[in-house]
Amino acid sequence: MTEIDKRAIDACYEQALKSYNEGGLPIGSALTRGDAIIAVGHNRRVQQGNPILHGEMDCLQNAGRQTSYRDCTLYTSLSPCMMCSGTIVQFKIPRVVICENRNFGGNEQFLRDHGIEVEIVDDSRCIDLMARFIAENGALWAEDIAD
Ligand SMILES: [Zn+2]
Repeated sequence: MTEIDKRAIDACYEQALKSYNEGGLPIGSALTRGDAIIAVGHNRRVQQGNPILHGEMDCLQNAGRQTSYRDCTLYTSLSPCMMCSGTIVQFKIPRVVICENRNFGGNEQFLRDHGIEVEIVDDSRCIDLMARFIAENGALWAEDIAD
């Protein structure tokens, strides 16, 4: 894992914690190019009343228009859902770093099948925060994953 990987993983956790403290779903994301974090974001379903503003979508929105994502890495505190995985494929983002996939997962193979490099880092901070949120807000979590 590189220095920028560590910084972006920290940013995902910080974004997730920020959302948790706002009463939202604790899922954060970061987009990097080279050694720079070009955008961060977090799930805003609750904060904005927007069901499609998952952490990854908020991060991509915050990054604004990009000519290409082929030299970018997307980081996410939790394994991406099918909406976000589809966006990753659509935008041809070549590499995704997933902080954890214990609390949610299942689309890793879909990403790999589309030629995307997937790394799972098992970050204990992200695992614990998400598990805590699910225990405290089961109904809100079910709403986010359409369960
Ligand atoms: Zn998603």
